[in-house]
Parts: sequence; structure tokens; C-alpha cells
Amino acid sequence: MVNRAKSNRIMCINCNLCINKLRRYPALELDKKITSLLSEWVYPQIITQDDVVCEACKDLAMAKVNVFIKQEVTDDDCQQAGPSPRGHTNVCPLCGISILRRQSNKILSDNPSELHQAIYDIIQNRLAPRQITESDRVCHACWLRTRRQVLRINSLAKSLLSIKDAPQEPAPQEPATLTEPSTSGSTPAG
Ligand SMILES: [Zn+2]
Ligand SMILES: [Zn+2]
Repeated sequence: MVNRAKSNRIMCINCNLCINKLRRYPALELDKKITSLLSEWVYPQIITQDDVVCEACKDLAMAKVNVFIKQEVTDDDCQQAGPSPRGHTNVCPLCGISILRRQSNKILSDNPSELHQAIYDIIQNRLAPRQITESDRVCHACWLRTRRQVLRINSLAKSLLSIKDAPQEPAPQEPATLTEPSTSGSTPAG
């Protein structure tokens, strides 16, 4: 029995590969040590009932656990293992396809343009609580989709701004008679 995720796209919680058509394992039903190692890797994501891992990530975690057991390393040593290993690298974290042979875009940039920064913000928002790392890339289709989203938001913001500016047109001049001191004319009856 395999858990059916609610979305149509089933992604490995660790490496984000789309594994609808691949072998997958419910992350909570693996060996306790493997599950706890996986939850360290995906931290601050929390592994839930619906989460699955791909075979490569499961094997990777299993191998690590075996190494830990052999070497009797302490938990502290595990923490210093560096960046979390992933069964598959070169995966678009947004849609889960492999970007090994596809055009892809770096999410983080050393010197991002305003547009790039806005794209980054949206992607980070979608992936939260997972943090984007230096090496993370998205496929070009997802990049363009996010870029369009940014441009749409920008043009929306601009039109909102222009609405705000609109009332600042010069107000219609009031009739001169009202601003002039009333030197003559009828005085209210008293
Ligand atoms: Zn994986
Ligand atoms: Zn993608």
C-alpha cells in the first residue's frame, strides 16, 4: 500500500524529484533511524504521513545509517556532516523534473537584479520552510512562469500607484467670486 498524496504530483521530500512513476517509500514507514536521519536532512520541513522518498534517497539514508552504526559516531558527528545529501541532484524543486539535460536557472544570484530578487522571493515563498541553497536551480519553464508572475504583480502595483496618483491632478478652480473679498453686493439681511 502506498500513501496517496493529495496533489497529483508526488515529490520526494528530500530531493524533490517527481516520483509519480518511480518507486517510492512512505518516509514515516522506513526504519526509525532512517526516518530520523531523513527528518534531519529535510529540516525545517516536517515529515508527515503523506511524505515519500525516492529509492535513491532511501538508499542514501540507509547507507549513512549503516556507516553511523559501524563507526559508532555520536549524534554530534552526524550534525557536522555538512549539506544534506540528496538522492537526486539537478531536480527542479518547483515541479520535480530532472534538469540535468534541460535549460535551468540559478535561483540565487550574487548580484541579483530587482526582477531576479522578486523571482527569488516568490520561489522561496513556495518552497518554505525549505531553504534555497547556492546550488539550487529551477527548470526554465518554472523560471519563466515565476517571472511572468512577478511582471504581473509589478504591473498591478504600477496601476495601483497610478490610481493613487490620479486624484492629485489640479482641482478645478473655484469660482473667482467666492475667493474675492466681498466688497460689494448684497449683504445678508439682518
Ligand atoms: Zn529523493
Ligand atoms: Zn520546474
